[in-house]
Amino acid sequence: MKKHCCEDMNYHANLKCDIHENSFECPDKIIIFDEKDNDYGLIIHDGGSSSIGIDFCPWCGSRL
Ligand SMILES: [Zn+2]
Ligand SMILES: [Zn+2]
Repeated sequence: MKKHCCEDMNYHANLKCDIHENSFECPDKIIIFDEKDNDYGLIIHDGGSSSIGIDFCPWCGSRL
């Protein structure tokens, strides 16, 4: 498991839901982390699979 900038990011980026296989369908999942690109995104729960890329951690403010 990758270490993220803070506990909150660790929790959210690594959150795995037992009910929803697709992260975009899970209302509890708010951060999507792309390990390939090392990219963080904020999931927009609009029924599709949209996300906004984020450059700073919403919790601790670190550059991602
Ligand atoms: Zn952080
Ligand atoms: Zn879920």
